Parts: sequence; structure tokens; C-alpha cells
Amino acid sequence: MDESSLLADTFAYKFDDTHASENFGADTYKVSFIDVGQGDSELIQTGSGNYILIDANDSSSHRYIESIGVAELKYMVLTHPHSDHYSGMRKIITSSTITVDNFLYSGYSPTNSTYRSLITLLDTQSIQRIQVADGYVITVDNLVLNFYHPPTNDFLKTASKINDNSLLVRVSNRAGIKTLFTGDLETAGWGSVVSRHSTDIEVPFLKAAHHGSANGISQPIFNTIKPFATFISCGRDNVFHHPRQAALNVYSLRPIYRTDTNGTIILAVTGNIEYSITTEKSYSQATNLIGADVVQTSNEDVATSDFPPDD
Ligand SMILES: [Zn+2]
Repeated sequence: MDESSLLADTFAYKFDDTHASENFGADTYKVSFIDVGQGDSELIQTGSGNYILIDANDSSSHRYIESIGVAELKYMVLTHPHSDHYSGMRKIITSSTITVDNFLYSGYSPTNSTYRSLITLLDTQSIQRIQVADGYVITVDNLVLNFYHPPTNDFLKTASKINDNSLLVRVSNRAGIKTLFTGDLETAGWGSVVSRHSTDIEVPFLKAAHHGSANGISQPIFNTIKPFATFISCGRDNVFHHPRQAALNVYSLRPIYRTDTNGTIILAVTGNIEYSITTEKSYSQATNLIGADVVQTSNEDVATSDFPPDD
């Protein structure tokens, strides 16, 4: 898919312009919520044009990142070892046109042959595997990635679910415009995150946990995050009935974007006060857009919002 074709609907909003006079340089970033069917895959582009990939499902992830000319992934992040998050990684790792520098994961030992072969492939290709947990931080150009979950590597030894051990990572630019990536975190995992990082996870942009499952969000968690917009990655007519209505009822206090209906979605933080969201397919506001202070506009139009950049 050519990125230039993603012109169907563009929505632009402005943050509070308190810091408008400050010069943050090329403090931009872009997140592509790639339409990978029932799975997850998000590509982050820094202000200097470097890339980080979080999860990859089937061949769709590779097709997208190859189509926009990505030659190197500084980091490939696996939130948790379920196939709808890693089944597309082999194709990327073995691609002749894409180099993967580092692989970040929670450190789960292989429990099935597909995951085992992925780990073996990483080692064969001499891609550095780095086990991360709460407190791990990486900086790539103008972006800082903070990992907030799982709390320790020992957490993995408990009987808790793989979903609840998903890596939780927050991306922030210098202006403090943040996006939170949540894997398939469920109720127990969220409880742990909120107990340690309730203020850190207050962000304007949220990748919905667990494909919009009802156990991936609650009203208190939503009120803690206070997202300005939520992005749900799920497949059309999926057997899990994601996203669940109970979750949509919570998310719909703010705009919702969905890969099953919007296709690939690009969030572009274009400066310290402005961002835009572009969808591959036409955006429907019929059931999802309730936020009264957000005005859906035609291309180029800009609506002012009351959401300030935090710290
Ligand atoms: Zn999943």
C-alpha cells in the first residue's frame, strides 16, 4: 500500500498552544496502526526517519513496511508471544531489504515450535535479544520509550496469563506528546500497571489493549489514561467479536479509530501542538464519535481541542 494513497480522510486537531513559541526542532513522530486483520502491528517513525516496530501479524506487516521503503528497524518489540503479535516477524527478519537491529521482549521461554523457531532465527541472524521490564528506557532520536510492564522479569514466573505480562510501552517526543502501547493487557495486568504508574500512563493517544476486548479496559482505567483518541487493532468479523460493545462504550467518550473499519491508520504528531490522523478507508462516526468537543472535519480543516500536552 502506498502511503500517498492514504488520503481518504484526514482529521487535524490542535493541542493547547502554551508552548507554541518554543522550538522543538524536528520533534515529529508518526505511528502507523497497520491493518493486519485480527492481530497487532504498529510502526513508529521518529523525527529523523528511524523506525521501531511493535508486533507483527501475518504478511501484512511486512507488506506495509516494505511498501513505504523501510530499510532498517532499530528495534522490533514483541509485546507477548501470541501468534497474532509475532506471526509476521519471520518474514521481516528474513527480508533481503530490511535490517532488524534489536529485538525487545519480555523474555518468555518458547512454549511452542513456532515461537521457538522465531527465537532461533533471531540468534541465527545475530539480532540482539533484550529482555525488558518496568524501568527499561530507550531513546531513539527525539523519542523516549519507557517500559512500564511487566513489573519485573520474575513476574513471568507467576501463574499469571501471558496477556497480563504484555510489555507496556509509552512513546514520548520532547514536547511530551505521548502514545501508549498496551499489547493484550487484561484486568490483572492493568491493576499492576496502575498501582505503579498511574500518572505515567496519562497520555493523549492509546492503542487499545487486547483488540478492544472488554477485559482490556474499564472506566477507572480509561479515566486514569484520559486518552484523547483510541486506536483499536482488530479484524473484520473476527471470531472473538472484538471490539466488544462494553469496551466501545468506555472508549467512545473520545474518538475511536479501528483497523477493521478504517484500514491502516496513521497518527502524525506534526509538532508540539498539532497532530493529524489519516485513515486508509473512510471514517465512520456513526457509533464511535461522541466527544462533543471534537469536530470531524473535511481535509485540511483544523478544529481546536481543549486537550493540553502534559508535562
Ligand atoms: Zn492479541
